[in-house]
Amino acid sequence: MGYTIVGAGIGGLTTALAFEKCGIEYQIFEKAPKLNEVGAGIWLAPNALQVFEWLGILEDVVAKGNSIDRVTVGRSDLSPLSDSFQDDVKDKFGYSTIAIHRAELQKLLLEQVPKEKIHLGKSFKEFKEVEEGRILVTFSDDSKVETDFLIGADGINSKIRNQLFPSSKTRYSGQTCWRGIADYTMSADFEHRGIELWGNQIRFGVSKVAKDKVYWFAVSLSKPNQKDDDTLIKDKLLKTYANFHPLVKELIAATSQDKIVRNDISDLMPLNHWYKNNICLIGDAGHATTPNMGQGGAQAIEDAYYLSNLIKNEGNVNVFQLFQEKRKQKVNTIVKQSWATGKMAHWKYGKGMRNFILKSIPKNLIQKKMNEMYQLEKVC
Ligand SMILES: Cc1cc2nc3c(=O)[nH]c(=O)nc-3n(C[C@H](O)[C@H](O)[C@H](O)COP(=O)(O)OP(=O)(O)OC[C@H]3O[C@@H](n4cnc5c(N)ncnc54)[C@H](O)[C@@H]3O)c2cc1C
Repeated sequence: MGYTIVGAGIGGLTTALAFEKCGIEYQIFEKAPKLNEVGAGIWLAPNALQVFEWLGILEDVVAKGNSIDRVTVGRSDLSPLSDSFQDDVKDKFGYSTIAIHRAELQKLLLEQVPKEKIHLGKSFKEFKEVEEGRILVTFSDDSKVETDFLIGADGINSKIRNQLFPSSKTRYSGQTCWRGIADYTMSADFEHRGIELWGNQIRFGVSKVAKDKVYWFAVSLSKPNQKDDDTLIKDKLLKTYANFHPLVKELIAATSQDKIVRNDISDLMPLNHWYKNNICLIGDAGHATTPNMGQGGAQAIEDAYYLSNLIKNEGNVNVFQLFQEKRKQKVNTIVKQSWATGKMAHWKYGKGMRNFILKSIPKNLIQKKMNEMYQLEKVC
């Protein structure tokens, strides 16, 4: 029984490692001729880290990244609206969130996949059911593979999803995001902090990802598909965030222009089904979320954990249905909350009330919600 995974992003690579661990036969195909993640960071929450622990790669992730021990949502001057120390999370799970450079994470995952099982430069074109239970996958270079099961891990603009569910739709949030890695030495008091500052319909987030490397993101309202003049982007950001805490300006100034990437923020309108017959979507292909809760990657990683263990424990019959039943409620809640949080962060009116509410949420309630989100069910 063979599985074909399309897409070697965070979700596809973690699924490959999970299949490897569970002894499930697979091959993985990726359109890029070389894996080169964007120059940005990612926050890996404890739910993702538990999966990495199970895969035996947690120590490497921790060594390459930086632990976030305090998460602050604040005003533009860094005065806190919500400030949560992560001691309880650490006590419960053994670690808090790890911030890491995306390229480091990708390298680390890729190194663990046996070379003969990964095929780069293979862009999925279409699938066809050739006989009961068999699928023929065609790539853009007209090469083909026949497989028993197809896993679409090809991201938010998934071609597999578009063929499987042509009416599926992404939804633009009205917000665009610049991300960068600054060559910057964080002072000791900021070293283990994850910070997001909310200004006047703009946001800025920060965390150290490695020695003298700091990841930042800047979110603004925008029409979709706008392009920047690369030579002006730093000046534009410096002007936009001129009233923010001085750290923000120092970080933008310490980032070379070619280390700044821009993406519009979208998610996927929740699908009724993530699978049809022997084809299943995982990660952003099946349930892309906006990044406001730092959970898109973590949910793709959780998918890998549950899907592989379900196949191992339950076999291949109806396994995609079981997978969806196990995952859908949590994922849909995250997609919904993340969308609402993103909207609230950019409110034009009612900011005083919003800030008052944020400051009033009891810390133990925030803690409880976090612990629920970070909790994995034991399925292995
Ligand atoms: C601004 C921003 C900040 C974020 N921050 C966080 C965070 O802090 N924490 C977090 O957990 N998540 C975060 N996310 C979300 C996270 O990046 C995604 O959820 C995650 O990358 C999804 O992984 P994936 O493997 O499903 O898809 P992707 O990472 O998009 O990977 C898809 C892969 O499929 C390949 N592919 C695409 N089409 C084809 C094809 N036709 N044939 C073959 N291969 C193909 C692509 O090249 C790519 O390698 C953030 C997202 C954004 C936009």
